[in-house]
Amino acid sequence: MPDAFDVVVVGGGPGGTAAGAFLAREGFSVLVLERAAYPRPRLCGEFLSPEARGPLARLGVLDRVLAAGAPPVTGALLSDPAGRYATVDFARVAGVGGPGLGVQRMLLDTLLAAHAREVGAEVREEFAVASVTIEGPARLVVRGRPTGAAGGAQGGAAEEVFRARVVVGADGRSSLCAADREEARRRAVPHFGIKAHFGGVEELSGRVEIHVYPGGYGGLVAVSGGVVNGCFLVKAPALKAARGDLDRVLSEVVCANPVMRRRMAGATRVDAWVSTGPLAYLAGRRPLPGTLLVGDAAGFIDPFTGEGMAMALRGAEVAARHVAAAVRAGGVTPELAGAYQAERRSEFRRRLFVARLLRAVATRPRVARVAVPMLARVPALGRLLVGATRTS
Ligand SMILES: Cc1cc2nc3c(=O)[nH]c(=O)nc-3n(C[C@H](O)[C@H](O)[C@H](O)COP(=O)(O)OP(=O)(O)OC[C@H]3O[C@@H](n4cnc5c(N)ncnc54)[C@H](O)[C@@H]3O)c2cc1C
Repeated sequence: MPDAFDVVVVGGGPGGTAAGAFLAREGFSVLVLERAAYPRPRLCGEFLSPEARGPLARLGVLDRVLAAGAPPVTGALLSDPAGRYATVDFARVAGVGGPGLGVQRMLLDTLLAAHAREVGAEVREEFAVASVTIEGPARLVVRGRPTGAAGGAQGGAAEEVFRARVVVGADGRSSLCAADREEARRRAVPHFGIKAHFGGVEELSGRVEIHVYPGGYGGLVAVSGGVVNGCFLVKAPALKAARGDLDRVLSEVVCANPVMRRRMAGATRVDAWVSTGPLAYLAGRRPLPGTLLVGDAAGFIDPFTGEGMAMALRGAEVAARHVAAAVRAGGVTPELAGAYQAERRSEFRRRLFVARLLRAVATRPRVARVAVPMLARVPALGRLLVGATRTS
């Protein structure tokens, strides 16, 4: 493998592999470095919003996701802590180009990485990046070490160094390519995410469901593999009270919502819990000089709207154009970085606004008790909110 590339991408989630594929297709030499080995579980609600269809189709991966059995998600249901609920039918929302999809991250991320390789990107798995620095004019140096078996039993593998004209930070919420990591840590909220797959969940009628309960909210959606993803946000005291027993958190905290309790009455967990947190919501992150950020590294919004993956995929598409210009210019200039930020802001402005609005409903049961019956009485309001998450 060469040690110098036009672009090194740190992180092989949807944002990183999509950016790698868009750039490799244009003829740039691209290396994607991913800490884990595919397929690997990832904490996520695994609901791909209808908005993700466009970038997936333009990448050439949508047909594979459909062929792999990702069930269509035709609408959404939102319930308040008392179990009153409102629904939205995606087909009735102006501008929506098809149903959403339920797809396990094990599958989606593996398909995206395979696609990036097919179009010419190098994807190196089990390699953890430790630092990104500028050495000389417009020459970025990425240092890291192999992990897993290749890292040696004691993790004593030698450091490896890669050089690039541009580095794309696609390494998620704790991105080491972000210059404001301390601020992100300070702004963390006390919410933790937990996720598992379940069999025997009551019929969801093709919808993604969000149920609000005291201390958080949780989502259910049928995903590829014939199971249901259950992904729940809970606060630290609830975890502590249950002594970290996540099945107890599910039955005592999450199932305090009567609709969730009914859905989960006959459910069986079919894999291990995955957890993460505390979460920090920062819409616009500052990149290190010479880097551009995509996906959660560029900004993490409340997961309520299920827009994270769609934004990572679309953001990668937008970023690829700016990265291409930066490579041709010999590196990321402040003007290029500014132009990219401006386009991101205008692309995602409305989605970020709706995410903030919905966070108030999802994390404040009292607000949910007012908002949900209102949405049930005035269905056009729900359609308006879903419509506002479409690209502006
Ligand atoms: C509770 C919860 C529920 C969610 N539910 C949904 C949902 O239903 N729908 C939706 O669209 N979005 C959802 N999201 C958001 C979604 O998961 C993210 O927006 C999406 O994963 C962003 O993709 P990404 O590629 O930017 O980052 P990630 O998916 O986080 O990928 C980052 C990658 O970088 C790798 N990495 C990290 N550090 C290094 C390093 N130092 N060296 C090498 N590799 C590294 C990681 O291993 C990882 O593979 C949810 C998020 C949470 C927290």
